Amino acid sequence: MDLFIYNASYQVWICIECRYAVSPRQFDTHLCSHHRHHPAARTAELRQAALAEMLKWPWLQPTREPCRLHPPDSAPIPGLPVYPDFRCPRCTYMSRALATIRSHLAHIHPETQRLRGRASKAKSDIAAAAEHVSCQRFFVSGSGSGFFSMIAPSPIRQERLASTVSEAEFIQAQVRRDLQESLADEAGQAMQITAQKHATEVSP
Ligand SMILES: [Zn+2]
Ligand SMILES: [Zn+2]
Repeated sequence: MDLFIYNASYQVWICIECRYAVSPRQFDTHLCSHHRHHPAARTAELRQAALAEMLKWPWLQPTREPCRLHPPDSAPIPGLPVYPDFRCPRCTYMSRALATIRSHLAHIHPETQRLRGRASKAKSDIAAAAEHVSCQRFFVSGSGSGFFSMIAPSPIRQERLASTVSEAEFIQAQVRRDLQESLADEAGQAMQITAQKHATEVSP
């Protein structure tokens, strides 16, 4: 179905219009509520046929098994938005708001608060040391909706230095470019898969 792109590494189907992953269980509801007018989603039979076709690939159901971990030094996943985030300077906790990092520091790392009072103001705001990170997530709610960080490959970083956009905006543009490329690839692969299915022997 042309609305979805398959990610074989994470075994998820990502809706390219909504820009998040949809589980097999959410599939029918997702089509009915977001893409009712799509030619391949107009009837229950068409939706069922699309589901059956997509189920030919391993498809993660996040309520039953956890999403595969995305290594923090990996490139962004095509089709998913990139969010700017802050990472706690003391652990791997991430949030989009610096205020949340401050309250996390106060509750989880109370030792960082002892410098307040007469201590220098520079030392009292440890949250200012929070690192800027770029994050993505597969699902928008429930299981599998946790954010994970990724880093931009070095050529991207270098190119970004020459531009004025933020890192997240820049990666987003890169992801869109990758997505267009992988959609072109997918069309090629789909033809290959069909061809292999009909072949009696798979050539080496
Ligand atoms: Zn969608
Ligand atoms: Zn922390």
